[in-house]
Amino acid sequence: MEKKAQMYEGKAKKVYETDDPSLLIVDYKDDATAFNGLKKGTIAGKGVINNQMSNFLMQILETKGVPTHFVKELSERETLVRRVTIVPLEVIIRNISAGSFAKNYGVEEGIVFEQPTVEFSYKNDALGDPLLAPSHALALKLVTEAEMNQITDYALKVNEVLKDFWKQRGVTLVDFKIEFGRLADGTIILADEISPDTCRLWDSETGKKLDKDRFRRDLGGVEEAYTEIMGRLKG
Ligand code: UDP
Repeated sequence: MEKKAQMYEGKAKKVYETDDPSLLIVDYKDDATAFNGLKKGTIAGKGVINNQMSNFLMQILETKGVPTHFVKELSERETLVRRVTIVPLEVIIRNISAGSFAKNYGVEEGIVFEQPTVEFSYKNDALGDPLLAPSHALALKLVTEAEMNQITDYALKVNEVLKDFWKQRGVTLVDFKIEFGRLADGTIILADEISPDTCRLWDSETGKKLDKDRFRRDLGGVEEAYTEIMGRLKG
């Protein structure tokens, strides 16, 4: 499968068309952004790690009943995926307080929740990805009620699978963001990526942050943290 015209270039990935209209090629870059693009940088080797980690986790999720866009890893940075129309929602699941949750509600990071939280942001850079209630998503016709229920069920399933996966590797899944897409027939599948860019992953013993917070917060050792978490993934 060959890359044809570039369809889109995002902050961390480029997307290309292929000979097959139902398939796309994603090419992961080392570029990193934070705070809605205000902070920019590069994390050497990140594209390779995010590509491989996302593909590995999506294949596990497939076996657990979550359909994903993953088709085939083509190279270190390139993956063949099913073409979807992205549902313009960022679906965020949290197991432990951190980031915007801690900030918005004035609590410290590290509070372990009895139940995971589910929240949605409207994927819209111009508006700064505002938080949105499920009824708002319906009012805006971003999704149908059936799609909203399906997306919520899948997101909670992803959390159960990944929480358990990382726990076995000495890593705590604090929170993460996922995105879904619609196939041509309307079927909802998991799309985008699951990586240290989109998850908070803390060492279960030491609490060390092994994710993009090292870049966001200038904690240093960013590349090392990405390499460390990739090592943990492979066990
Ligand atoms: N997240 C993401 N993209 C975004 C916003 C958040 O991947 O545009 C991820 C982030 O890495 C974290 C989770 O979603 O794992 C929750 O992020 P939060 O709402 O706390 O926002 P942040 O503090 O990162 O701004």
